[in-house]
Amino acid sequence: MSAVVAHKVSAENETVNETSRPEELPTEAYRQAVDQADLAISITDPKANILYTNAAFSRVTGYTASDMVGQNESVLSNRTTPIWLYQEMWSHLKQRKTWSGRLLNKRKNGEVYLAELAVSPVVDQAGSITHFLGMHRDVTELHRLERLVRNQNKLIESVIDAVPVAICLLDQLGRVILDNQAYKKLVADLDLREPAHTLLDTLLPEWRLRLEEDPEQCAFPVKETRVDRPRGGSRWLSVSCQILETQSDCVDNYFSSAGIPALLLTVSDVTSLRVEQERSRAAALQVALGDVERAASIRETLAGALYKLAEPLNMMSSVVNVLQRRDPSSASILSGALATSQEYMDNLRDAIPRSAPEGETAVNLNEVLRDVLELSTRKLLAAGVTVDWSPVLTLPNVLGRPLQLRMLFKALVDNAIEAMDTKGWKRRELSIESHVLKDCVRVVVADRGPGIPEALRTRVFEPFYTNKQGKQQHLGTGLSRAYQVAVDHGALMDIYDTAGGGCSMVVEFGLDGVPR
Ligand code: FAD
Repeated sequence: MSAVVAHKVSAENETVNETSRPEELPTEAYRQAVDQADLAISITDPKANILYTNAAFSRVTGYTASDMVGQNESVLSNRTTPIWLYQEMWSHLKQRKTWSGRLLNKRKNGEVYLAELAVSPVVDQAGSITHFLGMHRDVTELHRLERLVRNQNKLIESVIDAVPVAICLLDQLGRVILDNQAYKKLVADLDLREPAHTLLDTLLPEWRLRLEEDPEQCAFPVKETRVDRPRGGSRWLSVSCQILETQSDCVDNYFSSAGIPALLLTVSDVTSLRVEQERSRAAALQVALGDVERAASIRETLAGALYKLAEPLNMMSSVVNVLQRRDPSSASILSGALATSQEYMDNLRDAIPRSAPEGETAVNLNEVLRDVLELSTRKLLAAGVTVDWSPVLTLPNVLGRPLQLRMLFKALVDNAIEAMDTKGWKRRELSIESHVLKDCVRVVVADRGPGIPEALRTRVFEPFYTNKQGKQQHLGTGLSRAYQVAVDHGALMDIYDTAGGGCSMVVEFGLDGVPR
């Protein structure tokens, strides 16, 4: 019966006697275990003079036990380990603490190797150090591999950092686990906490759910988006998303080779290219908008003239009716003149230029507003108006006619400038904001002019209405036209007071295309 079993029986019988104690490990077993251990073991006196070395010690150092017994451990030193390391080691040992670290040793054949050494003091019952136990292994190859990995990491980091494309890797929880300098610059430039999230929210709104349930569904080749910053202009970013497989560093997965998906987001800034394209587009736009505005104003003038002319003609027609009974010959002359006038009126009506039909397309209102600001720059500067442009960073598209929409907002901006550009007017501030609400995009054009009195607010949208008094008036000619464009787009247009004085024009476009 083994000692362990004898102990169990005695425990059950609750009778403990000396002869039933577990058998002690024979001293020889200790010696053989140390002798045959695969770790270089040495035992020294308190001054590090070697008393014993095992077989592995000889294999690592090249010194036999008889070479080493009686020698100091310092024989192993390559004399290149800094002195402070030894001082630290001895300071630990003197306090009866185990020390471990890496030293540069030299084998018997002169070969230098890196030793990972642990030294433990052996203390007697009185608390005095009687021996030291040293255990070390050659970690030269391990160190080489560590350095290799570190160098490769540094190299990869430098290469990734040198790439002019922003790169970031997101784990399965959407956390950024790796990024490069260009991405860090993007964080600062866009003043966003995590641009990757903002971009994914815009380009793939359901990305979080997909990442959790089926990460492969998050991949997309190249998508472009525009980020409008209140300061510093818009940025056009070209974004692609790939799935990478990473290995878990969690110890639970030590024996598992299953990969963990990660999102690799690459973002390149195509702003300069787009700015060039935008510049030529803006020039073409200015011409097109000028044509549209000119045609609209001719239409309005002619329609206004016809409206005014209709009044005397109606009067003449009544006179003809009266004269036909009393003085038929005069009535016939007048009737002829009336018919000729009506003919001219019809000709004039036919001469009114029709507006060229413009197709509906997906429109980014931030883009429209920026264009309008660009087109109005000269007027704004001339009138000394400062602009506070606060677009929402990313805006969903609305369905609309791009030129018409530009004309709408240009009319609002022109009116705002006109309202503040009066002699002696001090507050010359224009603010333009875009917002995304639950089911609509709202644009607010607010000036700090004299405002529009409550009583006039519905009348100002009427065609031919004007309260112009020379150059001192607030309303421009295009407000009824602007209102018509809003109506054509199913949008709501309203007038409010600007906080602190002025007029705020609010236009709301439905996101679902349903009229507001
Ligand atoms: P040393 O004069 O021996 O020591 C350098 C400094 O260490 C001194 O300035 C002093 O501050 C301090 N120091 C040295 N000895 C003592 C002491 N007895 N008490 C207090 N402070 C002291 N060294 C290696 O380079 N490689 C090894 O593999 C290695 N294995 C060791 C294993 C054991 C079990 C022990 C106890 C020590 C081992 N050493 C080893 C340390 C070694 O004993 C020497 O301290 C070291 O090699 C430096 O030797 P040195 O002749 O250059 O200077």
